[in-house]
Amino acid sequence: MNKDLIQELTKEPKIAYFSMEIGLRTDMPTYSGGLGVLAGDTIKSAADLRLPMVAVTVLCRKGYFHQVLDEKGRQTEAPEDWDPSQFMDLLPEKISVEIEGRDVYVQAWLYEVKSLTGGNIPVFFLDTDVAENGPDDRDITSSLYGGDKAYRLKQEIVLGIGGARMLHRLGFAIKKYHMNEGHASLLALELLKEYKRDIEEVWDERLVWDVDRVRDLCVFTTHTPVEAGHDKFSYDIVAKVLGEPIPLNVLKDLGGKDSLNMTLLALNLSEFVNGVAKKHGEVSKNMFPGYQIYAITNGVHSYTWTCESFKRLYDKYLPGWANEPELFVRVGRIPDEELWEVHMEAKRTLMDFIRSETGIEMSPDILTLGFARRATAYKRADLLFSDLERLRRIGGGKLQIVYAGKAHPRDDAGKQLIEKIFGIKEQLKDSIKIAYLMNYNMDLALKIVSGVDVWLNTPLRPLEASGTSGMKAAHNGVPNFSVLDGWWIEGHIECFTGWAIGPQPSENKVSDSNMDTRDAEDLYYKLENTIIPTFYGDRHTWIRIMQNAIGKNAYYFNSHRMMRRYVTEAYIR
Ligand SMILES: *Cc1c(COP(=O)(O)O)cnc(C)c1O
Repeated sequence: MNKDLIQELTKEPKIAYFSMEIGLRTDMPTYSGGLGVLAGDTIKSAADLRLPMVAVTVLCRKGYFHQVLDEKGRQTEAPEDWDPSQFMDLLPEKISVEIEGRDVYVQAWLYEVKSLTGGNIPVFFLDTDVAENGPDDRDITSSLYGGDKAYRLKQEIVLGIGGARMLHRLGFAIKKYHMNEGHASLLALELLKEYKRDIEEVWDERLVWDVDRVRDLCVFTTHTPVEAGHDKFSYDIVAKVLGEPIPLNVLKDLGGKDSLNMTLLALNLSEFVNGVAKKHGEVSKNMFPGYQIYAITNGVHSYTWTCESFKRLYDKYLPGWANEPELFVRVGRIPDEELWEVHMEAKRTLMDFIRSETGIEMSPDILTLGFARRATAYKRADLLFSDLERLRRIGGGKLQIVYAGKAHPRDDAGKQLIEKIFGIKEQLKDSIKIAYLMNYNMDLALKIVSGVDVWLNTPLRPLEASGTSGMKAAHNGVPNFSVLDGWWIEGHIECFTGWAIGPQPSENKVSDSNMDTRDAEDLYYKLENTIIPTFYGDRHTWIRIMQNAIGKNAYYFNSHRMMRRYVTEAYIR
């Protein structure tokens, strides 16, 4: 059965999409957050649009982690064991990669993303848990972003080098390779080896490396707007783990003199490079002067990120919307009362869930803010609590807040943020109800983005490369109230699609130490003078803003539009 299937899948040349994490569904916990969910949405849209694509990732047999929070908000992490054979087929082919001088064997599981349009994208999950490998090597594809630097490099070898070899072995002809973030950069090294020129005598031995040919084949998307966020390995670790697949001087020319910088490596070996929002493209250009960096702003998969009640509504008034999100432009056809009713249905679903999970009784009639994302310092989950007395005065009896988010196991500041919110939840409980929901994942994300009234986002500029949860909210008629960073700079029209927090994007720097105070001031001011009065006093205007979130934000910030741009600007050029 597999043979025929693989024959069918390898018939036409493909775009190969490489990502360390891919989030396709909640019960396959092979993602940690935005990067993985974006990768999943990319593949789903590619399937809907019937693009010739194949995707490669690592298995993560123990998932990322399962978050448990005690009554004080202290996080503990448990493995999230799951059974790949429930979802995928194990292929008989095995390839090997060299790690620490040993041959490490890699097998692949095939998951098919099938669309109602007839599109079908094979996703290969690489797995080193095979009998030929020693116990440590069998563990390489166990936990996403677990372990030390050497462990991370081993995973990247499996993904980049192993992935390229597996596609080759299965018989795929690849016309473009798309590296989603620098984790996949070693793929380009493998291509360099594959296309090595066969010349006997050259005056400079570097000429045997056909960099231009590899560049023509590669597309690279960077997601990291801070220098410290880029994946780097000391050449000591590189020598020990990776060895010398190409001569060290050539590697240093491409990947950096002092350490192997995976972003730099990908930049030097890709003809097309992009950031994930217009602002992020510019920030990246400043970080890497001399490189041409374009911007393709992220989007989310409309069907995945629309809740049941809104799906029904769109099916009724905008049939065909799921594969043609441009139809959201006709949102004005939806009667106000029906839009409000389906929103209330989503809100009640969330409140029922909150009651059953936490015992907290929230009211569907109270203005509800949502904040759910990775718990890490720059996202400033506590900005809303800068002045508790003021918040109590503004929002007492008029506000409810829903939180969720995991902190990376080694991010102590992120863990403290969760504890802090738990503390404030107790302090405010008589005037403002706050719920912190455990184990943020894709299912929970959809419940929260669709079940609140306003989506709050308060990152420290310019650290949010794009952000995507706000786009999910917009798909469910939920307006954004956010700092002008990432996608929101492009999506925001004040009092029309939502509200901005703090200064214009041109005005600020991270180093501005007053930024927290300025942003908090604006947050409170607009909450008190615009958002709360409009919600309770001018339902007509409120529903107009909900409509605009759909007609202006969901209309544009979807992954169908994003993929059409990748095709015309990056894949075919
Ligand atoms: C969408 C999503 C994210 C990314 O949200 P951001 O706004 O980019 O932080 C993270 N985790 C999960 C589970 C998601 O569904």
